[in-house]
This record gives sequence, structure tokens and C-alpha cells, in this order.
Amino acid sequence: MVYALTGARRRVVRRLKAGGRLPVVVHALPAWQLERILAWLKTHGVLDSLWLTFDDAWTTLKDSLPVLEKYNVSAKVFVAPGQTLRGNIWTEEARQLGIPAKVWRGWYALSEAERNGKLDQAGSHVPKRTLLTKEEVIDLSKHPLISIENHTWSHLSAPHRPVAEVVAEVVQTQETLAEWTGRKPEMLAWPFGRGTPELEANMSELGLKAVYTRQGYEIGPCRNMALEDVSYQENLGRILGAWPKVGETI
Ligand SMILES: [Zn+2]
Repeated sequence: MVYALTGARRRVVRRLKAGGRLPVVVHALPAWQLERILAWLKTHGVLDSLWLTFDDAWTTLKDSLPVLEKYNVSAKVFVAPGQTLRGNIWTEEARQLGIPAKVWRGWYALSEAERNGKLDQAGSHVPKRTLLTKEEVIDLSKHPLISIENHTWSHLSAPHRPVAEVVAEVVQTQETLAEWTGRKPEMLAWPFGRGTPELEANMSELGLKAVYTRQGYEIGPCRNMALEDVSYQENLGRILGAWPKVGETI
């Protein structure tokens, strides 16, 4: 097992040195883990291949800024402004409220207002994990290593909703983020990594590159997501594609 993993890592390093890219998706990864991953990539001479994205803009991102500065690594942060204003991503809020997954998975088919209504009915709770506020996103956008990009308005599941609604959310997000940050996003990451070919066409008409952050950018599918609740060794294996595919995340 140890030898197989070493071989897999060696192959990845060889591919990256030949000009490949390494997309890595982070949500609320602890900063110390990010640092160890960046150190490993630097030691192996492939840090320049990294294409780092933070989805949702969780508060933990602030701890990662000194790490990005230390390694001079830039990152794209995909923000859903409607969820920023609510303080949480709806699926995470549902989990924190103790709503079973088999229940909230049925809410993919609902509108933002219907989803929020269900969450509000479920009562109050002290959030365990929250998003950066609007003001913090604005501050973050001024950082030279960060660009703020589009993650739809309400973190909807695009294939579950009408195309016109998805497009309207993307446009609303473009306008809102331009107003907040002074820069119009150039990229979009589909929430839950789910888009459709029809939506892709709509995004190019809007001048946006649609990105499946779960699978990486302009490369084939890969297992590149670093998780917040597993070991550094496992995460290194995951981002290098030497670990089994993970289940559903946000
Ligand atoms: Zn997300």
C-alpha cells in the first residue's frame, strides 16, 4: 500500500512537471493543513501547477491568508451572495439544525424562498460554522492574491431548477459582486459541482467560464478536494488523486 501510494505520487509529480495543472478545492480546511500541502508541493517543485479555489468563503479562509502570502499562492474564492447575507450555506445550516440528509436532499428541488422557509421553521441554533460576512468578503476582495468569483446567488442545485432561474441567479450574482468588490467575476463554479451542457452554453453567452470545482478546471475528472475532517496524509492522497472518491460535499 505504501509503495502504491508513493508510485501514484511520483506519477502526479511527473505529470505536473510536464505542464499539467493541479486543481485543489478547499472549503473550511484548517490553515495548518493547507500549509503542509503547499510545503509538500513546493518541496517537490510543483507549486506553480496549483490551481487553488475556496468554495463558499467560510470564516476559516481568513486564517489561510498568511499561508497564501508565505507561499505567494493566489486563489479564487467562489461566493454565493444570497448565502453570504444569510450567514450559512443552506445544506450546512440544515445539517447543523439536525435535519436528516434524506429530508434536506429533497429541498434541491425547491426555490430559495421555500428552502429558507423550511430552515426558519426548523427553529434557531448556534451555528458551528459560518460564512464570512458581506463586509469581510469586501475586505477579502482587496487582497492581491484573491479574486472573488460567482457561485450563483442562493447556492442552488442548477440541474434541479428552471434554466431561466439559474441564469437570473448568475446575473444577479455578477451584479452584486461587482457592486461589492468593484470587479465583475470571470468564472462561475456550480454549487455541488453540478451544471448541465445547456447551462454551460448560457454561461459563455454571459462571458463566464463555468467551472466544475469538484473535477477541476480545463482538465479531466480528478479527485482533488481537501476535506476539513480528515488527516493531512489522507488529504494529500485525495488532491493527488491517490485516494478513493469522496461522497457528497458542498
Ligand atoms: Zn459551494
